[in-house]
Amino acid sequence: MILVVAEQKNGKLNRATLETLVAVKQLSGEMPVKVLVLGASVGDVLSEFTVSQVQEVLIVEDKLLDPYTSEAFVAVLQKVIETEKPSIVAFSHTYQTRDFAPMLAARIQSPLITDITALKGTGTSATYMRPMFQGKLVAEVSPQGEKPYLVSFQIGAFRVNDTENDSTPVSSRKINVEIDAASIRMKPEQPFQEAKQAVDLTQAERIVAVGRGIKSEENLSIVENLAKAVGAQVAASRPICDSGWLPMERQIGSSGQTVAPKLYIALGISGAIQHLVGMKGSRTIVAINKDADAPIFEVADYGMVGDLFDIVPALVTELEKD
Ligand SMILES: Cc1cc2nc3c(=O)[nH]c(=O)nc-3n(C[C@H](O)[C@H](O)[C@H](O)COP(=O)(O)OP(=O)(O)OC[C@H]3O[C@@H](n4cnc5c(N)ncnc54)[C@H](O)[C@@H]3O)c2cc1C
Repeated sequence: MILVVAEQKNGKLNRATLETLVAVKQLSGEMPVKVLVLGASVGDVLSEFTVSQVQEVLIVEDKLLDPYTSEAFVAVLQKVIETEKPSIVAFSHTYQTRDFAPMLAARIQSPLITDITALKGTGTSATYMRPMFQGKLVAEVSPQGEKPYLVSFQIGAFRVNDTENDSTPVSSRKINVEIDAASIRMKPEQPFQEAKQAVDLTQAERIVAVGRGIKSEENLSIVENLAKAVGAQVAASRPICDSGWLPMERQIGSSGQTVAPKLYIALGISGAIQHLVGMKGSRTIVAINKDADAPIFEVADYGMVGDLFDIVPALVTELEKD
């Protein structure tokens, strides 16, 4: 059995969990798939899963699971793994997973393969592709040793098919796990927010990203106008954030966020590998660049070769005509 650990906040499922289910469907072959949802109260999350994706949803509710601590999560996961005996445990490679998965792997003495972008084969003999050295190389890794194998999938690497229309409810089962309150030594404070309007770009459906082609901070209003017209979040390549023109949380790439929106518009971005690894999973990529040989066009679905200072205002005028 493959156990997918879902991620939710206040009863709202993180979209990355649905991508992990797509990866797991490919991985599972004939193996059954179950989902584990954990939290103080998991709310309506159950309704997000369909019988074509999963056989059963397991629920662990305990007030000690909110606010999140790695200690409580690892305690619950260890217990559930002992009783349910999955051969593979799958996660989305979110910040939360990065926090607790290594501790879990060490605790249960299992191999952990992180940030997977593709896989070959099925079941426990599958091998996994993951980037190395800031995306310069792709390693093919096969787990060995004690099962379960722990695997985490990169956000944006596996696309969710929105057209799947299966409303048959999935059966669910509550599992009681005793968490020893004394074993939780962490006292989490409010999550750190650098900016008041901090955004979670990983959840954005549309992103307009800007690169060095914008030339100066004053010109950013052109980008903001386009973002407003298409209802998108603004993001950037690294030089823009390094210059302080936009906050670091808006940086896309190997040292920034990995995103997979439905629409990614890249303005004046060359498409260096460190940028591409953060956005190439986007469903539709539109690139505007005056250099026809810019590498961004290799991943773009639609490309416009030209000056963004001409194209973007014209686009905004058209979009606002409605
Ligand atoms: C360890 C490491 C980590 C890194 N991490 C990241 C990361 O997380 N994210 C990231 O983005 N980068 C990262 N980088 C930097 C990366 O290598 C590139 O330098 C960076 O992505 C380039 O940004 P850019 O495309 O905005 O600028 P440039 O490469 O300078 O490209 C600017 C583009 O704008 C075009 N242009 C210029 N004027 C116009 C115009 N008027 N109209 C239209 N197009 C125009 C040009 O043709 C060009 O293609 C990292 C580098 C290293 C070494």
